[in-house]
This record gives sequence, structure tokens and C-alpha cells, in this order.
Amino acid sequence: MKSLETKITVITGSGVSQSSGIPTFRGTDGLWKKYNVMDLATPQAFARNPKLVWEWYYWRLGLVSQAKPNEAHLALKNLESSGYDLVVLTQNVDNLHERAGSSKVFHLHGEIFQRRCIKCHDITSWQSSETFSSSEIPKCTKCNSILRPKVVWFNETLDPEIIRFSHNRLKETDVLLIIGTSGLVHPVNNFPFIAKQGNMNLEMYEFNLELTPLSSMTTKTILGPVEKTFPEFVSKTFKIAKK
Ligand SMILES: [Zn+2]
Repeated sequence: MKSLETKITVITGSGVSQSSGIPTFRGTDGLWKKYNVMDLATPQAFARNPKLVWEWYYWRLGLVSQAKPNEAHLALKNLESSGYDLVVLTQNVDNLHERAGSSKVFHLHGEIFQRRCIKCHDITSWQSSETFSSSEIPKCTKCNSILRPKVVWFNETLDPEIIRFSHNRLKETDVLLIIGTSGLVHPVNNFPFIAKQGNMNLEMYEFNLELTPLSSMTTKTILGPVEKTFPEFVSKTFKIAKK
């Protein structure tokens, strides 16, 4: 059992959200199948047709608000509430980690429930009570310009502050848990190497449906559905406070 002094950093990806029924959005899905994701998730696409992009995001917001955190999200919350120093770095834009109760969640690719004014950069959030049935382009209450989803699109760079924070955190990490991500996208694909360079004794565990390019460098890769494998691993490896 790992002591409560163990510093844990977690990287989560679309596999964790998929177990809650949220599609990956790496490709388009459902109603949006006929579109190419490059026509919906780039700054160029938004400049060309903001209404179309917003319709796609309203659809996605609707899916995310109906989804519920699964056992993998809850296991992370239990680790944190048991007293471990735990930080989640997620590639997911949904808020399922927060809704499960995790308090230190950093969104590498932005957050779908936030919007940013394209002119004055004011940041606001959607209300959770919202129904997302509108197809209007939302407007800034400060300057009346249009708002965009506060997510990182293709052809955009990640927030340098979050990257800096992640690097520092990875260097002092004892245990790195990589959950539900078969394709770590640049620069996140460097994170495991940064953690390893920072700590010779780093233990790295990967949870995924299939082997990935990272599997050869992990302490152990555990294959299977993450909502099952991850909670099992947590209860065997860490001291979990009884609820
Ligand atoms: Zn504005």
C-alpha cells in the first residue's frame, strides 16, 4: 500500500469519458457524421461559419450534461478524499472529473462549459441548468462580440501556463497514472518522459483497452475497461478511507 505522502499525477483521456457514454469527438459522430472534424474544430472553421460550429457544440454540451461520472472518475475522487496529493491532467473537455468530486483538475485542451469572447477575451460559463436547444451564436455581455467555446482546437496551441504547471508537477511525481488514452497528442506525449527524467523511481501505470506506444515504458499496463480495472487497482494499491 502506498503511503499518503505519495505524490500522484493522473493523465486522463477520452477512454474515461467514453465509459460515461461521451463519444471521442476525434472524429464526428451521430448527427454530425457527414462533417469532417476539421470543418468544426479549427479556428478557420469558426471564422467561416460560427453558427455551424456552435450547433455542433450545443449538441456536444447536451450529451455531456446528460452523462454521469463513472467508477473510474469516482475512484480518482476517492483517492483524493483519502488524503493523497493527487492532480488530474486531463485531455477531456467535459466536466465529469469535477462532477465526481475531484478538486485539482487541469484541462489541457480547455473546457466545453466555458466560452471566451473573441474580442475582449472575457471568460464566462454555461449554466448547468441550460438545455442547449438554441442555435444562436452567444454574445459577450461586455462588448457584444461573439463568444467561442474555450477549448483548444486543431491548429491551436495549449495554454502555456497549464503546460508549465504540468511539467513542474510531473517532475516531482512518484506515481503516474495514465488512464484511457491511446493517443497522447503533442505536447502531452512528452509528459511520461518528463516524469521519468524527474524521478528515477517513478512508477507508471497505464489503463487502456489496448496496448499503446507508451506500454513498453510503463511499470505495468493493465488492459480492460477502465471503469473496472482502475477502481480495482486503486483499492489494491492505495489506502482508501472507508466512506
Ligand atoms: Zn467581449
